[in-house]
Amino acid sequence: MNTRDAEAFLTFARAPHRGRVMPTKASAPPRTRSARETEAERRVRVRKIIARLEKAYPAATCALHHNSALELLVATILSAQSTDARVNMVTPALFAKYKTAQDFANADPQVLQQEIHSTGFFRSKTRSIIGMAQALVERHGGQVPDTMEELVQLPGVGRKTANVVLGCWFKKNEGVVVDTHVQRIATLLGLTKEKDPVKIERDLMALVPREKWTWFSNALIQHGRRVCIARRPKCEICVVNRLCPSSRV
Ligand code: SF4
Repeated sequence: MNTRDAEAFLTFARAPHRGRVMPTKASAPPRTRSARETEAERRVRVRKIIARLEKAYPAATCALHHNSALELLVATILSAQSTDARVNMVTPALFAKYKTAQDFANADPQVLQQEIHSTGFFRSKTRSIIGMAQALVERHGGQVPDTMEELVQLPGVGRKTANVVLGCWFKKNEGVVVDTHVQRIATLLGLTKEKDPVKIERDLMALVPREKWTWFSNALIQHGRRVCIARRPKCEICVVNRLCPSSRV
């Protein structure tokens, strides 16, 4: 880490959590990491973070209920701006009715909108699901492809959705899923200074061993739901609080 990077890291570590409500214990200022933390030291710290998260979340996996690549693809599209719990309430009836890509491709948009209404953004999600399914039928024989290049060509499918399907269904570590939990916690842990999900993903891919990419994002998502909650992080019970520059304990 050069001097400029070190100064920038220290500034980040000392900065108040902009826009976030953090614990306000006056006697417990934010932990700061040394400005001299080198890239090698950072990698050691990341290894320790991973080891502790592995103990806490050994089997972290996708929380969206699914029994096929198609179901996971549809559920992931539905999860945008929604919660996995909400999506899991909607998908049982949906998947009982629409069993194949052809079924979704033939769906009546007005009916599908009603069926997914509670997940929000139902009009655009309906367009994405029907468009995606039609592309699967036309280009892939109704099957979900297993490459990043082909997946991101499908309507409504971006890199994040493709990473979910590749990692959780096809067991391919092609990237790191960067959702709001991953974005927030990676920043708090000092693993990235980027705001753009693609650049955050690049930073995490450089720090985390490839075989752990899918697990790591699922672990951070679980950590974000249980402990490092956006408006009230429970630093006092966090397994990585001794390694986190944002810890308040
Ligand atoms: S110590 Fe844990 S809970 Fe607190 S900010 Fe860091 S990662 Fe989040």
